[in-house]
Order: sequence, then structure tokens, then C-alpha cells
Amino acid sequence: MKISHIEHLGIAVKSIEAALPYYENVLGLKCYNIETVEDQKVRTAFLKVGETKIELLEPTCPESTIAKFIENKGEGVQHVAFAVEDGVANALAEVESQGLRVIDKAPRKGAEGLSIAFLHPKSTMGVLTELCEH
Ligand code: ZN
Repeated sequence: MKISHIEHLGIAVKSIEAALPYYENVLGLKCYNIETVEDQKVRTAFLKVGETKIELLEPTCPESTIAKFIENKGEGVQHVAFAVEDGVANALAEVESQGLRVIDKAPRKGAEGLSIAFLHPKSTMGVLTELCEH
């Protein structure tokens, strides 16, 4: 597969409102979009850092994957998302042919209208990995 850059880092936070002052006032980044992704039970806030983004992930209910992540590990980096140039479906097929475990068998819609798929951390040395394309 061909990866062009790190599209974003997903960071689990208890509260976007509580986290934003650090990113905006201390780091000087700017939040340009906040949206809720219902099927993932998260609210997301995006900040640009060059070509890469920070995606803050706030759980919308206790059953959210992000709520469970925070419960187990605390707030912090939850996943790394790579932008693939030749399609998420192609990248997934390649990954599966190499025997890696995937969480998504087919691309689905993520925040910002991206086509996304997650690889299983058991196959990626513990890093929840997202592949995405615009
Ligand atoms: Zn993500």
C-alpha cells in the first residue's frame, strides 16, 4: 500500500471542552470542527497540525469504545490514522493477505466523511491503526 502521511492522531479525552484550552491556548492550535459520530458513540474535535490533525475523542455514553479505553488506560493517544493513496479497500485486502487481523472487513464512513477501516492492535504491536482516505 502507499501511505502519504499521518492523517490524524486519535486522542481519548473525558471532555472536549476541558481538553481544548490546552490545545488552543497552550499549543496554539485551532479547533475547526466538532461533530458527533453516532454509530461510534463519540464526539470528535479536530485541530490541524500541518498536514496532520489531532482528533479529540470524547465518549457520548458509557458503552462507547472510548469510554472503555479511558476506563482501562486513562486519557491519551488511542489510535494512529494513516492516509492511504490507493483506496482503503485495496489496503485492507493487502493487509488481510499478509495474515493480519482487522477490525473492519470493509471500509466504513468515519468523521469528516472519510472512508476508514481499523486494523487490530494484536497484529500491530499494540497500536490501534486506522487506514483512511478522503
Ligand atoms: Zn480516527
